[in-house]
Amino acid sequence: LRLDDRHEITITPSIGISLFPDHAQVPTDLLKRADLAMYQAKSAGRNQACAFDPAMQARLEESTALTAALHQGLQNDEFSLHFQPQVDAQGHPLGAEVLLRWKHPQQGLIPPSRFIPLAESSGLIVPIGHWVLRQACMQLKVWEAERHTERLELAVNVSARQFRQPDFAMQVVQALQETGANPSRLVLELTESLAREDLDDTTTKMELLRSHGIRFALDDFGTGFSSLSVLRQLPLQVLKIDGSFVRDIASHGGSAPIVSTIMGLARDLGLQVVAEGVETFAQHQALRTQQCPCFQGYLFSRPLPLAEFDNWLHASISLATRDQP
Ligand code: C2E
Ligand code: CA
Ligand code: CA
Repeated sequence: LRLDDRHEITITPSIGISLFPDHAQVPTDLLKRADLAMYQAKSAGRNQACAFDPAMQARLEESTALTAALHQGLQNDEFSLHFQPQVDAQGHPLGAEVLLRWKHPQQGLIPPSRFIPLAESSGLIVPIGHWVLRQACMQLKVWEAERHTERLELAVNVSARQFRQPDFAMQVVQALQETGANPSRLVLELTESLAREDLDDTTTKMELLRSHGIRFALDDFGTGFSSLSVLRQLPLQVLKIDGSFVRDIASHGGSAPIVSTIMGLARDLGLQVVAEGVETFAQHQALRTQQCPCFQGYLFSRPLPLAEFDNWLHASISLATRDQP
């Protein structure tokens, strides 16, 4: 569209189509379905037409029902936390990543990959994320009282919607103060896309929390498109090498050169490294050859409910004492 000699506007339509009488018999329903198809066209990249399909309606109804159930779940204590151990090169426990679990009263355990996106889009991630954070702080406080657990750290995932709340930093500080947990035992995991989104807001909040002693890890590192200048600007302490690089690190022509580059980068920037998704001895060996100091994955343990995590801790501590000369 040409406005005048200097201005031109490009318009891209997203069109939703619904058919009478196949898709609905009354005008309001027909329009609703065309609308749904239009949102599908938008999310498929815009500038295209998309026809209504009954599966769209089914998906919408399913996620609406699941979001309502998520609401209930928060009130009815249906959430719990699992702890996945992180170990050093000798296999000694360093701490754990806290992973959220939701037990739906009828459907049973629902994986985070299904409910976290819904919690994000509905905004429920804010109260849920706050609950996770408080539970983690309470656990740190409990561990502080025992000699064999006092040095353990906990890493907590923070979603973008939660981090962008204006009072996010205050909420974290408050959770630490109210529980009395030591801030230097808490690591907040952020993703590359979150960190990059609004760099000023991200840096300000991170620096404020840093001044309280809290540390930050960049999660799934290598899967996003972080520029090196972003990496240098953020007050980060830890890089988590994504499991997709660990998966084929030991195979010929695999990701060993990428991991080696990440290790070099981390060394130069003074960052700690955690390798995620370590499943085999070969992967572990290849990572150790590259001087990776910290590991997490099924090879050591799956994410565990607290009682089982305690058992795992005791078993690994008695192994360590047995190994000593
Ligand atoms: P993530 O932060 O990358 O978490 C690691 C995921 O990898 C976990 O899946 C864990 O169970 C899985 N994993 C660990 N070791 C291995 C391994 O050796 N092999 C393989 N194949 N997988 C492994 P999970 O628990 O299903 O969590 C999925 C995602 O959900 C997490 O990815 C995180 O993005 C999100 N999430 C979980 N808990 C929370 C939470 O409390 N808050 C927020 N905002 N997101 C969370
Ligand atoms: Ca994580
Ligand atoms: Ca991860």
